[in-house]
Amino acid sequence: MSIHILSQSLINKIAAGEVIERPASVVKELIENAIDAGATRIDVSVDQGGLEMIRVVDNGSGIATEEMPLAVASHATSKIIEADDLFCVGTLGFRGEALASIAEVSRLVLRSRTADAASGAELEVVGGRVGDVTPCGCPVGTAVESYNLFFNTPVRRKFLRSKQTEFGHVAEAFTRLALAAPHVHFTLRHNNKPVFELEATDGLLERIARFFGRDLADNLIWAQSIDGDVKISGYAAHPSQSRSHNRMQFFFLNGRYIRDRSLQHALGEAYRGLLTVGRYPIAFFTLQMPPDMVDVNVHPTKLEVRFQDSGRLYSQLLAALRSKFLTTDLNTRVQTAGAVSFGSEDPSGGHDPAQAEQLRRELVDWAKGKVASWERDDIAGAETAEKAPGFGESAESQRRPLGIYRLDSPRMPAAKPFSEQTEITAPSADQSARGIHTAEKTLKPHSPQALQIHNRYLVTETDEGVMVIDQHALHERIIYEQLRLRLTSGAMETQTLLVPEPVDLSPAEAAAALENRDLLAELGMKIEPFGGDTVLVVGYPAMLANINPVELLHELLERLISGGKQPDQRDMLDELMHTIACKAAIKAGDRLTPEEISALLEQRHLVDDAHHCPHGRPTALIFTREELDRQFKRT
Ligand code: ADP
Ligand code: MG
Repeated sequence: MSIHILSQSLINKIAAGEVIERPASVVKELIENAIDAGATRIDVSVDQGGLEMIRVVDNGSGIATEEMPLAVASHATSKIIEADDLFCVGTLGFRGEALASIAEVSRLVLRSRTADAASGAELEVVGGRVGDVTPCGCPVGTAVESYNLFFNTPVRRKFLRSKQTEFGHVAEAFTRLALAAPHVHFTLRHNNKPVFELEATDGLLERIARFFGRDLADNLIWAQSIDGDVKISGYAAHPSQSRSHNRMQFFFLNGRYIRDRSLQHALGEAYRGLLTVGRYPIAFFTLQMPPDMVDVNVHPTKLEVRFQDSGRLYSQLLAALRSKFLTTDLNTRVQTAGAVSFGSEDPSGGHDPAQAEQLRRELVDWAKGKVASWERDDIAGAETAEKAPGFGESAESQRRPLGIYRLDSPRMPAAKPFSEQTEITAPSADQSARGIHTAEKTLKPHSPQALQIHNRYLVTETDEGVMVIDQHALHERIIYEQLRLRLTSGAMETQTLLVPEPVDLSPAEAAAALENRDLLAELGMKIEPFGGDTVLVVGYPAMLANINPVELLHELLERLISGGKQPDQRDMLDELMHTIACKAAIKAGDRLTPEEISALLEQRHLVDDAHHCPHGRPTALIFTREELDRQFKRT
């Protein structure tokens, strides 16, 4: 075939393929045009997932009759004039391709009227063929309809999914834009049935509530940071609300929904230790900055942008979240109000409901005895600060399915008859109750006590109530703190191997290993090149006596490879310390001896100072005493 210039229609179809991938792309482009036109109300309507019809009506500025043909011409725009404008784009659109592309691959009807025009005008384009502009009656604003998308590009049409799936994409596009522009009144209809009716509102929060529910919206944490011209503000969800995917991470740059790996990574960093592996935080953040600080012309649908200083943005978001988390108590408080179930409070997210129910029942059984003893304490008056005398002394305990009695019995006084302990209801102090109390007080054990359940959680008493700790998370936190301490004080010791161990690595691993040799050495992990993709492990962190150095090396390398380029060496080191801590910590499922439990809880206080560090503190649930009282109808 000889070389020839493609026909304009073919060029347009190729271009259209980049911008218009499915009905949702049409919806996105049309809503963006409406927002750019200053609309305060936008009505979106689609039939059959958008395959049959898409209509977007706005009350924006409208298009002058004589400009209608230009609006549907390719590379025609009112939004930029010269090349320099490309670097300070203040509108959502600027490429002048959307209407032309939609018109190329569907039947498009455009109706519009400006405020100063006596009547409106209408224009139809079928598969790129532009008809005549005819007058028509219509309100100020613009209505665009697109019928039979991809009717003339059957291959594209074949790639579309079911109507339900396509509508799902439409709804997602709608959601992103409606979140980005809360001041606009939006509606969405599918097959003539209303799906969303969203009144204009001041802030993001109301929109979040409408799309994702009150529960989520009510538990969001507000964070904000202003650094020079760059303002970041928005909401992050409590760690008890996480997802198995990152699609609930919304970033809006100057009103545009964007995806950005670096910002997502910053989010992940901020939540590290608060979520288990494979869970993603939920967040809604708006970023405002002068348009010349970002290049939005790097992606046909502008979903991705290029920041002038993405490292600074990364740090700013991370710092904003960290400092917020520092002052926020992220322990999950279990609320008994409404339908909130214990299971849904699992901070790690995914959870087996049957297991949660079992856990709930055991806790309730146990707490019944606990509350009874608190009540007795109160009646006894006086030493309220010195609280309940521990597990196991009520007759209730015998029926509990847990091993509490066994654990604590050696230190416990003989069980009193249940009636004697709980049937004291008079508000005045009762001599015999006081007697019991004092007797118990003298015998009160001082070492920390906890009960291990499901080989996974530790349940313990606190001043406030009852705390359920994730044993792995706590241990991981302790090890991390120890590592950090040693690293900062330069006391990280290496245990040298008597016989260095050769390890065969993948080419990527070998490259990462040699590239980061110094970094690894700082952590006590010493390696030497051994030729090819083999390295010698000559030493490992001395404080990790029970760890397999080869396995650890593999994990560290995996982290180094998947972590990509960290903006900062310190951050990478930090990541690696987390990897080590995670690897070395006891796991969920490990049965602990009472001594181990005590040791773990004792060390808990070592990390109490770091308790609020967002990095990786133990995930714990607190059942406050008030909540328990309420649940047992004691108040
Ligand atoms: P772009 O948005 O990149 O400029 P489009 O093809 O989406 O390109 O639109 C072309 C032009 O048509 C826009 O620049 C704008 O002037 C006009 N236009 C499109 N939609 C609307 C609308 N809903 N209201 C007012 N003007 C519109
Ligand atoms: Mg546009």
